[in-house]
Amino acid sequence: MRMLTRHSCRPHLAGRLGLLLALLVATLLGGCAPRRTIALEVDGTPATPLTGKAWKESWGNFPGEAADGQAMPLERLLSEAGVDSAETLEMDGRSWRWEEICADAWVGRDGRVTVGDGAAVAPGLLSIRRPPEAGQATSTHLDLAPTVASVLGLPAPQQATGSALTDLRADRAVLIVLDGLGYRWYEASRGQGVTPFLDGLDAPTLARSVYPSVTRVSMAAILSGALPAVNGVRDRGTRNLAVQSILQAVTEAGRRAVVVEGEALPINMPGAELRLSGDRDGDGYTDDNTFDNAMAVLTEGLPEFLLVHFHGIDDAGHTYGPDSAEYRERMTAVDGYLERLLAGFPAGIVVRITADHGMHTVHEGDKLGNHGTLSGEDMFVPLWVVRY
Ligand SMILES: [Zn+2]
Ligand SMILES: [Zn+2]
Repeated sequence: MRMLTRHSCRPHLAGRLGLLLALLVATLLGGCAPRRTIALEVDGTPATPLTGKAWKESWGNFPGEAADGQAMPLERLLSEAGVDSAETLEMDGRSWRWEEICADAWVGRDGRVTVGDGAAVAPGLLSIRRPPEAGQATSTHLDLAPTVASVLGLPAPQQATGSALTDLRADRAVLIVLDGLGYRWYEASRGQGVTPFLDGLDAPTLARSVYPSVTRVSMAAILSGALPAVNGVRDRGTRNLAVQSILQAVTEAGRRAVVVEGEALPINMPGAELRLSGDRDGDGYTDDNTFDNAMAVLTEGLPEFLLVHFHGIDDAGHTYGPDSAEYRERMTAVDGYLERLLAGFPAGIVVRITADHGMHTVHEGDKLGNHGTLSGEDMFVPLWVVRY
C-alpha cells in the first residue's frame, strides 16, 4: 500500500499527461453546467442551496424562461428550491427589494448571478428575507379544494396535498375568486368605505398563492389542491390539469358543479357546467356580466359547488396600477356585486371569497400593475369565510 501511495504521489510523465487530460475533460464538461453551488439562506436560516443540477433541471423544465439559453431567472430557481415568497435579496453586501429586481436577476450556466445592469458575480451567499405575511399566512391555495370537498362530505381531489380548513359540513359550497386582489391592497383600503360589504364580514385570514402567481397557475392549484409541479399547470403555457380537480370530484360523486367565468376560462375545466361572461355591454369590465350569470344560476337553483370568478379588479390593476383610484373603484363595484349575490344565497351553505394572486406596481409600457412574482404584493391574498 505504501509503495502504491508513493507512486501515485509522484506520477511519471504518462501519469502527468493523463492527469492533464482528465482536468481538460472535467473543464469541458464543467462548461455545460454551473460548477458552483450557491449557498442560500432564507430569513437568516440556511436553506436548500442552488446547485448546478437544479439549474439544469429548471433549464430543462422551463426553456421558455431561459435568457439566450444561458441564464435562468433567479426567481424560478428560488421557487424550485422551496422559497415561497421574497421581500429582499442580499448578496455580497448589497441589498435589493425583490419586486424591483426579480424580473432581472439571473443565474448563468457558470453559477454566476447577475442583478440588473450589474456585473456577473459568484456570490458567497444569497440571503432572502421573506415578506412579513409569510409568517402570518394560515392557509395556501392548496387548501381550498380539500376544504370544499370536506364541506360537501366528499373525498378531496386525488392528488391534493392541501388540508381542509374546517370540519364544518354544508349542503352546498361556493367559492368566489376576486382576480388580482392582493392582501396588502385590501388592508390598505379597509375601513375607508372602499369595500363596505367585505369590511362588514369577519376579518379575512391571510392565504398564500403559488408561484408563478398568475391566474392560470393559481386557479389550477386552487381547483386541484396540488402544487404546479404535480398538477401540470406550471406556467402560462399550459391549459390542462394533469390531475383530478374539485369540479371533477364533485361531478363524479353525482353532484353538480357550475363555474361562472369572465370572458374566457383560465384553464380547461372538465366536469363543470360553464357560463362565460363576455363584456356584452362594452363597459370595459365583465364583472356586471359575471354577476348576472351568477344570479341566473342562483335563480335556477344553486348547485352543490359554485365557482364565480370576477376579473375586473385585476384588469384595473394592470391598466392603472394597484395603488390607484381606478383599482379601488373596481373593488367597490365588485364589493357591491358580492353584497347582492350573497343576499340571495339560501341557508345551509358555506361561501369562501379569496383572490388568485395579488398585484404590484410596475412601469412596463402601458402597464402600471403586474403580478407573477414571489413578492409579498403578489403572493398573499385575503380569504373570507361566510356561513349561512
Ligand atoms: Zn388573475
Ligand atoms: Zn392579471
